[in-house]
Order: sequence, then structure tokens, then C-alpha cells
Amino acid sequence: MADLAPVVVVIEDDPQMRRFLRTGLGAQGFQVFEAATGRQGLVEAGVRKPDLVILDLGLPDLDGVDVVKALRAWTRLPILILSARGAEQDKIEALDAGADDYLVKPFGLGELLARLRVALRHAALAPAAQGETFSTGNLRVDLQRRLVYVDDEEIHLTPIQYRLLAVLVKHAGKVLTHRQLLKEVWGPAYVDHAHYLRIYMSQLRQKLEADPARPRYLLTESGVGYRLRA
Ligand code: CA
Repeated sequence: MADLAPVVVVIEDDPQMRRFLRTGLGAQGFQVFEAATGRQGLVEAGVRKPDLVILDLGLPDLDGVDVVKALRAWTRLPILILSARGAEQDKIEALDAGADDYLVKPFGLGELLARLRVALRHAALAPAAQGETFSTGNLRVDLQRRLVYVDDEEIHLTPIQYRLLAVLVKHAGKVLTHRQLLKEVWGPAYVDHAHYLRIYMSQLRQKLEADPARPRYLLTESGVGYRLRA
């Protein structure tokens, strides 16, 4: 995050949480605009042209998932959702609707900042990601030639294994829900076949991870989906 202060719109009805975000992010050089309702938040997001939106799912006027959908109707800017512990289904619906990532309350400032950086980096790289080479640690994926390397050794993947990896690469750093992955890799008719995903993820880990039981790259987001470490 360089020269210009990234602009963040915070949509959150809890004044204490807003103050925490305003203070914490302000101290890190972010320019923060706040909204206490979903409707106000949509207006702020339109007016301030933010680099990122932080959205609480429990709002007094609108369903947070509907706020995600309304934003996604006109913008691809990163949306980081805040969810209450136990509100698992809301969180998954918001991710399915196009949110980029989530944090479960309570969370620390360090964790928030790490997620913001990933989301901003991902947004900045997204247009160039097509037809490029992706690498993280000792893993390298040549998207143009569909080749995968670990420590410069070529790894053979089946077409489905490759497609699963390519979808994760396309959204590197971002959490993808089970439904999103099933839809993108197998098709819309397969969104409930979570066991496909488990089987193929395990195969990918066997081929790409030094220790498949403790993955460095193909991370499990418990109860939600998976994320490729960027
Ligand atoms: Ca709330």
C-alpha cells in the first residue's frame, strides 16, 4: 500500500466496532468513511469510490447478504465481511454472493490488516492474472501452458485436478466456498457434491504439498471452503 491512502468504507451499526476500525485503520494510513446502516453504506460506497468495503452482516435495515448483492451489481471492489460467531450460514451466503473474505468477531487488528492487504493486492493483480504465471513458495503454475511445478519439477495433474487448482489460483488469497468451487470446477448441477471437492483437494495436496496433512498452500477454511495462500 503505497503513496495514496487506501479508502475504506466501513458499514457497521455497532459504534464501538466502528471506533475500533476507524482508530486502527486510521493509524495505519487508511482513509476511513463510516456508515451505520446498509442503505447509507451503499450510498457511501457509491460516493467515496473506496478501494475496499468492510461490511458487518448484522445490520438494522438491510440483510448484509443483500448489501453484497447490491454492491456486486456494479462493482468488483473487495468486500471483507464481519460476521458474528455462530452465524455460519450468513457468512457462507455472503461469500457465495461475491464477498471476498470474512472475519469472525472478535478479531485482532493484526488479523484485519493482513486480510485487507491480501484483498487489496488481489484486487490490484486481478486484471493481469489471466495468462500469467502464478507462484507462491516452491509452487509455480504456468496458466498459459497449463503446467505445474514444485521446486522446478513438473507435476502431472489430471484435467479436474488442474481445473480445481486453476480456479484457486485465479482467486489466490481469497476464500472460496464449497459451492463456488463445485460450480466453477464441475458445474452448477454439482454444487451440493461436497465430497468431490474433498477427494480432489486431498489428491492435489498429495501432489503439491510437502506434508499433505499440514498444507502450506491449499488451506482449509473450516466449514466454509478453501483458500490458496497467495
Ligand atoms: Ca451489527
